[in-house]
Amino acid sequence: MTSQMPVRAVIFDMDGVLWRGNEVIPAAPPFLDFLRARAVPFVLATNNSGQAPVDYEDKLQRLGLGQVPLEHIITSGVVTVRYLKAHLPARSQVYVVGGDGLRALVTQAGFVLADADVSVVVAGIDRQFTYEKAWRAMRLIQGGALFIGTNPDTSFPMPDGPSPGAGSILAMLAAACGQQPLVMGKPAPHMFEAALEVLGTRPEESLMIGDRFDTDIAGAQAVGLQTALVLTGIETRETAAVNPDLGATRVVDDLSVLQAMWEGI
Ligand SMILES: [Mg+2]
Repeated sequence: MTSQMPVRAVIFDMDGVLWRGNEVIPAAPPFLDFLRARAVPFVLATNNSGQAPVDYEDKLQRLGLGQVPLEHIITSGVVTVRYLKAHLPARSQVYVVGGDGLRALVTQAGFVLADADVSVVVAGIDRQFTYEKAWRAMRLIQGGALFIGTNPDTSFPMPDGPSPGAGSILAMLAAACGQQPLVMGKPAPHMFEAALEVLGTRPEESLMIGDRFDTDIAGAQAVGLQTALVLTGIETRETAAVNPDLGATRVVDDLSVLQAMWEGI
């Protein structure tokens, strides 16, 4: 694309870029096909840790977005486990505040779930969050366990309105412990680094496409990725127009505009 290095790989945010809830965004399937036809690899990256990559694999098929290799679907749970593997001995004990999906990822990676003598407390969205879990996490973190959060999103959209997200649980734990978590999801660099590792490309030749400035775009800019903001999700022409920090970010109505720009060179 113009005035920057050629794009050799793409990282997508999903909600607001490929779909809204359970509705596909019409420009998305042709854009993925366009990338496939050009042999441009892509990764799908979401802060949501409540669903596993295999759930997204199903959703992609259902919405007509085609097949995506499982290792190209990166959730904040996946990034969390990748971090644990890089920093902890195998079979280390981990206390998880989170759902079955997150607990399964942790055990599949060879760690042992425990509620005492743990090296790490991992916290994410937990629909069965209780005072007892907060109490236990607080004791463990104050006793020296590393405090890791899957993602910072304080709420997430549901059909009947926003619901409390992982970030709200992290805020409660952080207040109790007097300590901030190490957060894995966007805008922190860990998810972008995991995506680049899968893609095998350098940041400056890779493009992040997202619908939120503060997570997708700001996080990608900090890592040195090229960036494109689509207006099919959170941000609007108006919010983009008054944002002084977009820099070289391409702002496009939807993926079809980006595709036309790409085809034009
Ligand atoms: Mg989004």
